Amino acid sequence: MPTNSTTQTLEIAVLPGDGIGPEVMGAAIELLHAVHVECGGPALHFTHYDAGAQFFARSGVALPDSTLESCGLSDAMLFGAMGWPDIVNPDGTEIMPQLELRMAFSLYAGVRPIRWFPGLPAVLTDERARGIDFVLIREQTEGLFYARGRGRMVDDNEAYDTMQITRAGTARVSEFAFRLAERRKARRAFSLVTCVDKANVFTSMAFFRKVFDGVAAQHPGIPANHSLVDAMAMNMLKKPWDLDVMVMENMYGDILSDMGAGLIGGLGMAPSGDIGDAHGLFQPVHGTAPDIAGQGKANPCAMFLSAAMMLDWLADRHGEAALEVGARAIEKAVEIALTGGEVVPMDYGGSSGTAALTTAVISALPAARRGVQ
Ligand code: ATP
Repeated sequence: MPTNSTTQTLEIAVLPGDGIGPEVMGAAIELLHAVHVECGGPALHFTHYDAGAQFFARSGVALPDSTLESCGLSDAMLFGAMGWPDIVNPDGTEIMPQLELRMAFSLYAGVRPIRWFPGLPAVLTDERARGIDFVLIREQTEGLFYARGRGRMVDDNEAYDTMQITRAGTARVSEFAFRLAERRKARRAFSLVTCVDKANVFTSMAFFRKVFDGVAAQHPGIPANHSLVDAMAMNMLKKPWDLDVMVMENMYGDILSDMGAGLIGGLGMAPSGDIGDAHGLFQPVHGTAPDIAGQGKANPCAMFLSAAMMLDWLADRHGEAALEVGARAIEKAVEIALTGGEVVPMDYGGSSGTAALTTAVISALPAARRGVQ
């Protein structure tokens, strides 16, 4: 039975996109309907909008103004994946409306939780790898991605891309990292916010560290440290169980978050939230996976866990505890489904496709709900 009833309806803008995007999105919406029946809370009203590479091929526009406007009016955005290898801009770059959305809604914090799920084959043999549970926060409105569309070819022998680091951009994402660490504190043995940079080489990165330190000083209850990005690449493999929250510029985050996904076996289990002060967009870390698109092989768990992040975020914003229960129930249901051993995703060497995994997770919801406070 639902935990409570509310007359509130939340509007969710759905951007399925390309490749496996619509496949995992369909599965996630089916799951969210089931979660509502199981956990109650506000109804979610889903409206699908056009955007992406295939839409660009048909219309000449990747992200129509009407889609952007509706996203701005929604309570949250749920995003599949966008881009396609053969459909590119005249300069050869891929169609990536997700970058436009980040800028349009100032989604400055790219939140990438990396957590090991029981039932998954271990990538690291060390027993402590079962305790992997950290969050990588990627700054998403500046950094090296500032260069996108601004790159400069001097002549046929020389090219430049500029990294932008601002005080305001670094301070707000660092503040976000400390607030997240504060929230995680209750259920963890330790707290730590790590600034990942290359302050020993680049002026911009020394500035990033300086601004981070200023924010850290305002949060004396949360320990903070620094790591050079190359050292972090090694430590993420050597002792990822020692990490809690880390924050870094855009490009480092782009690279290390895929590595984080690798630590838990692949992109099929890695969710993300792109969060700003007024808007939130939730999407799996993976792309459109053209190699498996249209075959029903995609693992929808990353999309499911992104949907759980959306419920958490909405719960916080709207004061709706039932949505948080729904978020925990999704995580637990994924765990139950994977631990049962009856379904093993194809990207983990099994033979379960999108439909089988969706059925297994939805079937696990009642038991998951009982295990959630
Ligand atoms: P992008 O540049 O768009 O982020 P990418 O280069 O990270 O994309 P993906 O499209 O995410 O690449 O795919 C990388 C590999 O991971 C592919 O072999 C793909 O099949 C696999 N993969 C990605 N997502 C999933 C998923 N949900 N289930 C199964 N396999 C996946």
